[in-house]
Amino acid sequence: MINRRKFLQTSSLLSLATFARPSFALPKKTMYINNTDVAIIGSGPAGLSLANQLSQSGIKVLVIESGPLNGYSERAQKRNKVLDAGYGLPYTLGVATKRMTGGTSNAWGGVCPRFQADDLLCKSKFDYAADWPITYQELDHYYCKAERFLQVFNPTKQCSPFKLTDGSVNLAQKLRTHGFKDTAAASVTVNSDGDFQALRLKHSHLPSLLKNKNFSLITNVTARSFNIDTSGNVKSVLGNDDEGNVVKINCKTVVICAGAIQSARLLMLLNNQRSDFSFGADGGHLGANFMDHPAVKMTMFENPSNEMHSKHKPLPPAKFGQAHIWQWYGHYRKQGVGAYLPYVVQNSESNKDSLSKDIKSDDLAKGKILQFSILCEQEPLRENRFELTNKETDEFGDPLPMLWYKPSDFDKRTYQHAITNMQQFLEKSQSLKAAQKIDVHLGRHHLMGTTKMAQKDKDGVVDKNLKVFGSNNLYILGGSVFPSGGAANPTLTIVALAIRLAKHLIQTRV
Ligand SMILES: Cc1cc2nc3c(=O)[nH]c(=O)nc-3n(C[C@H](O)[C@H](O)[C@H](O)COP(=O)(O)OP(=O)(O)OC[C@H]3O[C@@H](n4cnc5c(N)ncnc54)[C@H](O)[C@@H]3O)c2cc1C
Repeated sequence: MINRRKFLQTSSLLSLATFARPSFALPKKTMYINNTDVAIIGSGPAGLSLANQLSQSGIKVLVIESGPLNGYSERAQKRNKVLDAGYGLPYTLGVATKRMTGGTSNAWGGVCPRFQADDLLCKSKFDYAADWPITYQELDHYYCKAERFLQVFNPTKQCSPFKLTDGSVNLAQKLRTHGFKDTAAASVTVNSDGDFQALRLKHSHLPSLLKNKNFSLITNVTARSFNIDTSGNVKSVLGNDDEGNVVKINCKTVVICAGAIQSARLLMLLNNQRSDFSFGADGGHLGANFMDHPAVKMTMFENPSNEMHSKHKPLPPAKFGQAHIWQWYGHYRKQGVGAYLPYVVQNSESNKDSLSKDIKSDDLAKGKILQFSILCEQEPLRENRFELTNKETDEFGDPLPMLWYKPSDFDKRTYQHAITNMQQFLEKSQSLKAAQKIDVHLGRHHLMGTTKMAQKDKDGVVDKNLKVFGSNNLYILGGSVFPSGGAANPTLTIVALAIRLAKHLIQTRV
């Protein structure tokens, strides 16, 4: 008898070996995969954390990944292309998300702060659509488990077994010495020695997942459409491998975890194929409310001539460290300004190439260079959206997404406020000086909002259990379901929602 799990892994490796062939024109054979409870599209943090929870509970899971098992493929990466509608893109979106096993965790920074309670307000804050349909308490309940899954050291909660080397703790203390308040070592992913390490899920989690008999992974297969019966039940996922063969996965439930653009795009492709259904599209939110976190970047150095160094006890030793400054988070919301969260890195020689030339290597060696990256909350807006366009298609002939995206007055107010606050702080401070110009980036690759969750279909695309409105067994998981995006990096919250969704699917006996 063929071991199905082994077969899938072997077939992944076979298609990898031949992926460089020209794109297909002729129909080839159809491969069927049966006996799957939950088909998960995408193997990023969302897909793998969900698969982990479900497979451990005895549910048979198949993860379908469009990218290669090992390494990076230019051909696969092109499938992420996003066209600019003319407003300008915050960055090259297609490059920011990774089509490979482990998804964008292959490129991320591993910074994992929790959302705060007010981040879940949308209607109350922006007078738009509706607030998150779940309470903060519900979300908070899953944060500890999410931190454990992502190996996050959280300095303020004692619920994870991870420790942290003293560089970040010292940095938080040093920032207080400089006059900042409410500072804390940053919540980041760590290795078993307590050193910061941006977790690559393909290495940290996939090996043990592959040992679970309930878990299977098929790579180099791009999900493109679904078979749906007349009652709205998804019966199977249809995809193409890199050779042009059709892969048909029969399953009981489907969860799309393809990232904020591709998840919404798959639902749009489905709606384009069927005239009798318009899943999640009735409220006009599908593909809309695209959000990221605009960010202010500035570098500072400690002023060595400052008397403060002699008046106060010596600053903690200079080691590589990362910290957050929470003192301004959400404080100006009543003035119509969003939350912002400075994340500070004390530099070392190791990343000097990313710094400007006016930084002296002596300062660097002494750890006197501090890099600030301030993440800012963005207003969810219907106008910041993408649509499918026939101007260009991907290698399978499917229309590419085209994005309309520009910062609103609220967004500009928020990052301006962050800059002014920092400048005023610097004017008063004799211990810190700005080392180079201030840069504003319109996004930090935190893609959110395009399939937002809501109590009612008029306000969103998925319900509070992340099930697509109008469907019985089609779910979406990822930053796309956030109705608002706060100013905290999104992945920890995505994983918390994955654990919550797993509980729901287990309870409803998928
Ligand atoms: C440079 C950079 C730094 C970042 N730093 C941080 C950080 O410090 N902290 C933080 O919280 N977040 C950070 N992020 C964001 C973080 O990477 C994302 O929030 C996270 O990866 C989202 O997980 P996901 O599983 O939803 O999507 P992804 O990780 O993007 O995974 C989606 C997966 O779906 C696959 N896929 C797409 N379409 C299909 C299809 N049709 N069929 C099959 N498979 C498909 C893709 O190949 C991919 O593997 C960063 C991102 C970047 C680019």
